[in-house]
Amino acid sequence: MLHERIAAHAHRVPDAPAVTCDGRTLTYGDLDARAERLAAGLRTRVHDEDAVIAVLMDRSTDLIVTLLGVLKAGCAYLALNTADPDRRLAELVADAGARLAVAAPEHAGRLPDTVETLTLATAPSRTGPANVSSAAARADRAAAAQARAADDLAYVCYTSGSTGAPKGVGVTHRGVLRLVVSQDWLRLTPEDTVLQVSAVSFDASTLEIFGALCAGCRLVVHPGGGPVDLDALAATVTGHRVTVVNLATGLLHQLIESRLSFFAGLRHVVTGGDVASPALVARLLDAWPGLTFTNGYGPTENTTFTTCWTTSGPPPDAVPIGTAVTGTGVAVLDDAMRPVTAGGTGEIYTWGGGLARGYLGRPAATAERFLPCPFGPPGSRMYRTGDLARLLPDGNLEFAGRTDRQVKVHGYRVEPGAVEAALARQSGVDRAVVVVEQDDAGRKRLVGHAVPSGTADEGLGARLRASLAAELPGYAVPDTILVHTTLPVTAHGKVDRSALTSAGPRPRAVANAYVPPATPLQRRLTELWSALLDTAPVGIDDDFFDLGGHSLLAAELLDVMHKELGVEIPATALYLRSTVAELSEAVGETLAGREIRS
Ligand code: ADP
Repeated sequence: MLHERIAAHAHRVPDAPAVTCDGRTLTYGDLDARAERLAAGLRTRVHDEDAVIAVLMDRSTDLIVTLLGVLKAGCAYLALNTADPDRRLAELVADAGARLAVAAPEHAGRLPDTVETLTLATAPSRTGPANVSSAAARADRAAAAQARAADDLAYVCYTSGSTGAPKGVGVTHRGVLRLVVSQDWLRLTPEDTVLQVSAVSFDASTLEIFGALCAGCRLVVHPGGGPVDLDALAATVTGHRVTVVNLATGLLHQLIESRLSFFAGLRHVVTGGDVASPALVARLLDAWPGLTFTNGYGPTENTTFTTCWTTSGPPPDAVPIGTAVTGTGVAVLDDAMRPVTAGGTGEIYTWGGGLARGYLGRPAATAERFLPCPFGPPGSRMYRTGDLARLLPDGNLEFAGRTDRQVKVHGYRVEPGAVEAALARQSGVDRAVVVVEQDDAGRKRLVGHAVPSGTADEGLGARLRASLAAELPGYAVPDTILVHTTLPVTAHGKVDRSALTSAGPRPRAVANAYVPPATPLQRRLTELWSALLDTAPVGIDDDFFDLGGHSLLAAELLDVMHKELGVEIPATALYLRSTVAELSEAVGETLAGREIRS
């Protein structure tokens, strides 16, 4: 069990540093004792097997204590993203059947009444001070340890479902242990300092947190919850002499492009989640020849990584996803379910210790993807990934796309069908289609197309975007929603998605005459937009999203405005007031001390 491995370090080296965040360090002894105190309180409240406890906190030492406390209590955690809208949080806790939550005080009021929400300060404790371990607590601990087995759930992680409802993947202790223990590609020692920067609602955090704590390393938590500020991240990494990082592919690319010095003190750089750029990886390895680099591939359903490719050698021409990690089976099968030969392309199937239990409460969806496995022992299952790979002559795999419409947008798994369903549900919408567009640098963005049920007015697209932002996680909200009187169809009468994707310049961007800025604030905003969106000139009636802005750029814009102008504009307000003129008006209202209209 995961927590037992961590408790073993607490027993052997109680004074070794375990978690550092915001200038505070918990030793293994502190971490274990604090988590045990929380666990003792949780055990008095939870009696069902496989109980799921929601956790709503930004990255912090408290977060790590809480995750460990939930595991020690014999429960599974559902780590929620604090940046998600409240409606999404409510949907996830209801789907997971969570009746208890542990939240940071600033987020405690955000969950529905059906969930009893504790904060660490209010969570009942049965063990007294941290260093006192009562007989009752020891008995509790032994009982909980006995009752738990490696196939029990450790956490539930949500991914987007194709029809609109998110699916909770139930990941086991065994799955996580197989990811972080005895892997020859991940040789962590207690001398290592590992960064925790991934959102905890995303399974990349599994590798960071349990990789570090099961190996007795120090985990350095980069504090916060929203988008990551690269300067602050660089300060965390250099300030704490981090040696190992696991960066989502998009973040890795950004850091290589903007500050190669970030990697100076690192020993091992791990990435995963999306297709890695060979040119950028080559730039990284050219600059830091001693570095070990790993490209990990895998769906959440097989606990973070399924295959890995590791190099310390010269820069590669391509970045393969490698071969199966220890404890995992992988086959690339053709349509007739026969293994492909070298050079061939097929779909990736995987089995072994990393396999999740399935989708929580969805036996049909589970049966559709978790199939009987002809390669393992009788009765075993394998997961059909929907990913395509080419088998290279040297036995490594190269990622070759998807068999369905699933895409990665800003590193997150998105089913355009799910976003379409959400858009079609909005009032005033008759039909909806969501397509994925890619810019020259390969960055993907979602564009919604809606046909209104009545007559459309000028602001409908922006209003729809704002109402989706109140319901969906930020990465799933289309950057632009265009309103049409009808949708193009193919000869077979289906919606012609390719015609929508290649629709050319945005109608509004073309229709807007250039109106120059009239005030210093408008001038500064047009300059900022020009720089961020790489377009000029920007007029005051131009729309941020129509000019190619998307949620990440929106976050960047709001961040710069905060730093430069001292105003905090909520993202939903930018969705509704997305021209320079409207936004400068919003800034004026905020500066005048008024509540911003959004
Ligand atoms: P992850 O934590 O790996 O991003 P998700 O379940 O969110 O897990 O997404 C899994 C999907 O991401 C895979 O099925 C695949 O389509 C894509 N993916 C993951 N890693 C890679 C990689 N290294 N190269 C290309 N695609 C990847």
